[in-house]
Amino acid sequence: MSAYPHTAVTDSDALCDVPLPVLGRDVTVPLADGGEITYAALDYAASAPALQRVWDDVAAYAPYYGSVHRGAGYLSQLSTDLFENSRAEIARFLDCRPADQVVFTRSTTDSLNLLAHVLPAGCEVFVFETEHHAALLPWSDARVTVLDAPRDPAQAVATLERALADREPYGPALVCVTGASNVTGELWPVRDLAAAAHAHGARIVLDAAQLAPHHPVSVRDLGVDWVAFSGHKLYAPFGSGVLAGRADWLQDAEPYLAGGGASRTVARRADGGVDVEWHTTVARHEAGSPNVIGAYAIASACKALTEAGFDRLVARERQLIATLRAGLAEVPAVRVLTLFGDDHPRVGVLSFVVEGWNSSRFAAALSAEYGIGVRDGLFCAHPLVRALLGGDPAAPGECGAPASSLAAIRVSFGAGTPDEHV
Ligand code: PLP
Repeated sequence: MSAYPHTAVTDSDALCDVPLPVLGRDVTVPLADGGEITYAALDYAASAPALQRVWDDVAAYAPYYGSVHRGAGYLSQLSTDLFENSRAEIARFLDCRPADQVVFTRSTTDSLNLLAHVLPAGCEVFVFETEHHAALLPWSDARVTVLDAPRDPAQAVATLERALADREPYGPALVCVTGASNVTGELWPVRDLAAAAHAHGARIVLDAAQLAPHHPVSVRDLGVDWVAFSGHKLYAPFGSGVLAGRADWLQDAEPYLAGGGASRTVARRADGGVDVEWHTTVARHEAGSPNVIGAYAIASACKALTEAGFDRLVARERQLIATLRAGLAEVPAVRVLTLFGDDHPRVGVLSFVVEGWNSSRFAAALSAEYGIGVRDGLFCAHPLVRALLGGDPAAPGECGAPASSLAAIRVSFGAGTPDEHV
């Protein structure tokens, strides 16, 4: 099987129509010259527009929603069913193992922080310097080994294997790796990294924030222990995310948040304190009233993507990437950023610099003069972008869009992108 499933599909016109309508395709925005233009959203990697279907599903449910897991009323029961069915839909989307748990969170950042919270005592964490900060930073309570940026997938696996083989003593360990880079869009050799992790007694969590919107993610096939992703990058609205995977570390740890819903029984003690028995199911880490609409929206998006077919989506994005690359190749000053080389498969995400130009000003001009929305800056992956731009990976930087010249421009797209936007 290919290390990068779905990279070998053949392009054909039949595969390349826009399969999934998104909101915001017809929004007009003002231009600096006083005119206006239809907005070209080329920043899907930050947040993708919601699918029309997701919005319709949420609107159809809105009049019926009620509290979940708490109410005896009809609408509460209905909402509880809908919430739990959403969990089951997402487990199917991720091809989870029967015993896996799907925990609803706020985002990928929240999911990875939850996992950091449940690490067993003495757990070591291994993470490449190329990761998004959401995957690089949550592990501060553990012993963290930051691995050097590899220059090809085989080097990534070899680097991880060496680091894991060197560790002493042989306690619990976790590897955290992205499925697709939010900077270069390049696919990472997740299956091989998972095999390497397991061969050395470590577990692995996949940051699928950028992979899941573009490729099918199978927990079983990739062999990962957990997967994290965000609803707002997967064509659902903001505010919901998922951590799915093995139950044991989740069940053994203290709840992520203490409160109602996570507790099975609470009793006052004679000494004035309280005794708490926590749930051992997903409820343990879902204290408080959950984001039912957000969960339902993610499930709706998962269903829509599955029904549209990832083959079609991948073929479509490959075509758009080829168009983008051909256009950029005509501009000699453009340098496309790549870690694994120009021919390495990528999702619909590509970053570049225009030599001699300030990337932030360039991005601002694309917006003001052409109505094109891209992202500029260091993309919350400072060490990686600094390394790719030839800057000092150790130097501090601002998250967002620094005014300095050390910044790049990122174009990203997906299911709703028409040809003319690229
Ligand atoms: N991981 C990757 C690869 C990302 O691109 C992002 C966001 O851009 C995140 C994690 C964090 O996602 P969120 O901001 O939804 O928590």
